[in-house]
Amino acid sequence: MIDFHCHLDLFPEPFAIAEKCRAHNLYVLSVTTTPSAWPRSRELSYGGDRIRVALGLHPQIAHERENELGLFDRFLPQTKYVGEVGLDGSPELAKHQQHQKRVFDHILKACGRAGGKIISVHSRRAATPVLDAIAAHPSAGPCILHWFSGSMSELKRAVDMDLWFSVGPAMLVSKKGRQLVAEMPRHRVLTETDSPFAQRGATPLMPWDVCEAEGEIAKIWQVSPEEASSILLSNFRELVAPVR
Ligand SMILES: [Zn+2]
Repeated sequence: MIDFHCHLDLFPEPFAIAEKCRAHNLYVLSVTTTPSAWPRSRELSYGGDRIRVALGLHPQIAHERENELGLFDRFLPQTKYVGEVGLDGSPELAKHQQHQKRVFDHILKACGRAGGKIISVHSRRAATPVLDAIAAHPSAGPCILHWFSGSMSELKRAVDMDLWFSVGPAMLVSKKGRQLVAEMPRHRVLTETDSPFAQRGATPLMPWDVCEAEGEIAKIWQVSPEEASSILLSNFRELVAPVR
């Protein structure tokens, strides 16, 4: 199983959770929210290649951490993975739109200059500007739209751009989420949890809860859970193969 977007470093005991992920035979992409978190977070990947760590600057705090772009550039050669990055169009962040855009553009440009990275992208209430930014930086590398919640026409545009999607249990709870997943090309879908942000009731999801997403995706695809699991694994291999 694969959790291609979670925040191991935001759990109270990240190294213990990482150990449990290994025990569950999970492949994990642990994204980070600030460049200053990178040196400590990257240690989660030590001890095998099942856990990979992405260097990020979350759009919800882009206005507070724009001054960390220098750190971002400095650490970028140390990883093939970038995230969580992107744009967030929530009304309470409207006044920070310009910061977000500058930060995201800077990151996409830096990824392109570095020869391309695998990028986990946040696009809440901002699918169109995110797609515009990605289209403007075609050499940034493969982008995975995590927990995509745009419209059907924005989804269609993302599919035409050959982007990837990571889908988690929280997204699959809603009818709209399931309808979006049904329209995603099967060979571009991965699983995620966005733990510990994403919750089931009042309890944060754990990375291994990604099995719930696999089960739901199998239902949407009308295939057996084993077949869904094998498609998802081959998607993951296709995405990461060029960088191994
Ligand atoms: Zn996240």
